[in-house]
Amino acid sequence: MNLKHLTDKTLLLETKKLVASERRLTTEILFHLREIERRKLFSDLKYTSMYDYCVRELGYSEGTAYRRISAARLMCDLPEVESKLNDGSLNLTNVASLVQFFKEEDITDKSEKARIVKQVEGLSKRECDLKLIQLSDRPIEKKHCIWVSDSIMERIKDYRQLKGTSETIEEIISEVALIATAELQKSKFKLVKNPRKVSMSVSRIPTASVKREVFLRDKQCVKCGSKFGLQFDHRHPYSLGGKSTPENIRLLCSNCNQRERIRQRL
Ligand SMILES: [Zn+2]
Repeated sequence: MNLKHLTDKTLLLETKKLVASERRLTTEILFHLREIERRKLFSDLKYTSMYDYCVRELGYSEGTAYRRISAARLMCDLPEVESKLNDGSLNLTNVASLVQFFKEEDITDKSEKARIVKQVEGLSKRECDLKLIQLSDRPIEKKHCIWVSDSIMERIKDYRQLKGTSETIEEIISEVALIATAELQKSKFKLVKNPRKVSMSVSRIPTASVKREVFLRDKQCVKCGSKFGLQFDHRHPYSLGGKSTPENIRLLCSNCNQRERIRQRL
């Protein structure tokens, strides 16, 4: 399928429509799965369980199979889940967390379930997991999770954006500890790995002082405001004589930068 002929506006509009039909199709699949499970049709096909059928017959990954079966069961229990999945206020990942939660907490009452579902509507996975921990009757230490305050989470967010990474919190903590150790060594022992060489710069790459000035001025992508994967971009292209001066350099995120390249080529 070649979409190069579509205008930007049509492309964006079509994608939105497709996502909406994708969601509706997903809930339709869930109803089918539920009915197959109700009829235990998977046994006819010599599968040991619905899960076994979903993985081996339908080719779902284990995670996908688990999430879909969970969602199909919950939808049967609480019919309102269907419209929430359709409008995107609930996603399959959070539904799977909910089903797990109901099991662990031994919640069987439908109105109690519905009340909890309402509380996680529109939440990200992390927010949903946190909410469920708050609602849990069980002691926190039994759960396998790290408690991170909101202010630390903000710093981790900044770090991820600046580095352009989606590393886990554990990975970041490990890396930050390494960096902090290296910094301490530097200041304490004056250790410098690569002594700086002073370079003449009439080059494409802005000097450190230009980068600093631009960074302090723009602070974020000047097009979309993102702080993720920031790059220094020549407003007037270097290849066309644009200089690496603060006036001609701006901060763009990698996406806006690529978009800019594509527009210039059009
Ligand atoms: Zn941007």
